[in-house]
Amino acid sequence: MEDCLFCKIIRGEVPSEKVYEDDEILAFKDINPAAPIHILVIPKKHIDSLAQMKKEDEPLMGKIHSVINKIAEEQGVLEKGYRLIVNCGKDSGQEVMHLHFHLLAGQKFGDKIV
Ligand code: 5GP
Ligand code: ZN
Repeated sequence: MEDCLFCKIIRGEVPSEKVYEDDEILAFKDINPAAPIHILVIPKKHIDSLAQMKKEDEPLMGKIHSVINKIAEEQGVLEKGYRLIVNCGKDSGQEVMHLHFHLLAGQKFGDKIV
């Protein structure tokens, strides 16, 4: 998608601090971290939000979760734990309309999600 910020990051038109990349998935550090470790994991295929994923995207969604675990292991937090957040649509406060998973870790989170 021409004007999508995360598609621009995928194409290298906007710089990012990459932590993982393969032919289908990219992960990079969030520019405004909400935790000591805050990584955004995205499919290279442009999907607006989780609500727009198709049946054909199911293998990719499964793979993204394996990649998230791989990144968590590399970051040394697989055992300690991490929080995964997906904002989906208007009410969630999703700002960038390219599906992304927030991998948050490196601190103890409270019991409440919000
Ligand atoms: P959302 O609110 O859409 O779920 O999350 C968007 C996230 O993208 C926010 O946490 C924000 O800090 C991050 N973000 C916005 N612009 C950029 C950017 O140019 N580079 C990086 N690395 N992260 C960004
Ligand atoms: Zn995009």
